[in-house]
Amino acid sequence: MNDFKYIRPTSLEQALAFLAQTDGEVRPLAGGTDLIPQIREGRKAPAWVMDIKSIPELNRLEFDVNGALHLGAAVPCADIIASDEVGKRFDLLRQTASLIGGMQIRNRASVGGNICNGAPSADTAPALLCLGASVHVATQKGMRKSPVDDFFRGPGETRLSSRELLVEIEIPPAPPRSAGCYLRMTPREEMDIAIVGVASYVVLAARGKRCKEARISLGAVAPTPIRAKKAEALLSGKTLEAGLIEEASRLAAGEASPITDIRGSADYRRHLVEVLTRRTLTACLQSLRVEM
Ligand SMILES: Cc1cc2nc3c(=O)[nH]c(=O)nc-3n(C[C@H](O)[C@H](O)[C@H](O)COP(=O)(O)OP(=O)(O)OC[C@H]3O[C@@H](n4cnc5c(N)ncnc54)[C@H](O)[C@@H]3O)c2cc1C
Repeated sequence: MNDFKYIRPTSLEQALAFLAQTDGEVRPLAGGTDLIPQIREGRKAPAWVMDIKSIPELNRLEFDVNGALHLGAAVPCADIIASDEVGKRFDLLRQTASLIGGMQIRNRASVGGNICNGAPSADTAPALLCLGASVHVATQKGMRKSPVDDFFRGPGETRLSSRELLVEIEIPPAPPRSAGCYLRMTPREEMDIAIVGVASYVVLAARGKRCKEARISLGAVAPTPIRAKKAEALLSGKTLEAGLIEEASRLAAGEASPITDIRGSADYRRHLVEVLTRRTLTACLQSLRVEM
């Protein structure tokens, strides 16, 4: 393991000043559950590791007056799972946070680290895409807010520059009659990464089975997590029936561009997208107590 120097700023200002000063030589460390193995394996060799867990803004887990969730980038998954309010309002986020690693990993691992690591298989990414989340990113010059849809660039890459720090993830208030579900396929039952992950999110009209809006996001089947926009468009505004869900699931599979590797062939992954899309959409309707 390469040597590195360690710093633990206690304010956002200190952290941003350090990032500006050391341009590119420093890696932020939230839980370290991705970063430390990568340094150990020689895949990353930063001169500095900057522990961001003592920065107050990055440890926020609060709802604002409108009901939006402000989730600090370093909040561990265990805190998200323990929050009844998150479970009540954003069960989809709780579902994905619950899947990451085992208990020891979840006590350290953050959602911020999960998306900053840029893995196409990151379990929280499809949920954040479905929930319409935004990221708040800071440099010494100020803060910018952008949709999480624009955050990912490629395998292991995000749009963050070396001077930027992800401060928080904001999730807009959950609309009435909305529900989400995330399912993934892992070759092993526990402690494994997804070969396909699918999140679906359905918002129904005030009455009946008409779908006001549907969002479907796919993980591990493209260079970045993606939205299956053709499948979403098919469902939006329509009454949700089994046949329509089947058709949307087939469309979602067509929107995936998976690779073949040792963990699964591209065809197998596309098939899984179809199956998991159907199951997640059906689960959303079951949560909303809608019969098909
Ligand atoms: C045994 C094991 C099991 C795992 N299981 C899963 C799983 O089931 N699903 C899954 O998706 N992942 C899994 N992981 C991977 C990892 O735990 C998650 O991706 C986790 O959410 C990473 O969070 P972290 O806080 O530990 O990130 P860190 O390791 O601290 O950081 C990850 C990357 O993001 C950067 N970074 C972190 N925070 C910021 C920030 N605020 N601003 C800018 N850059 C930042 C770091 O520099 C680093 O490059 C597993 C890992 C292990 C070791």
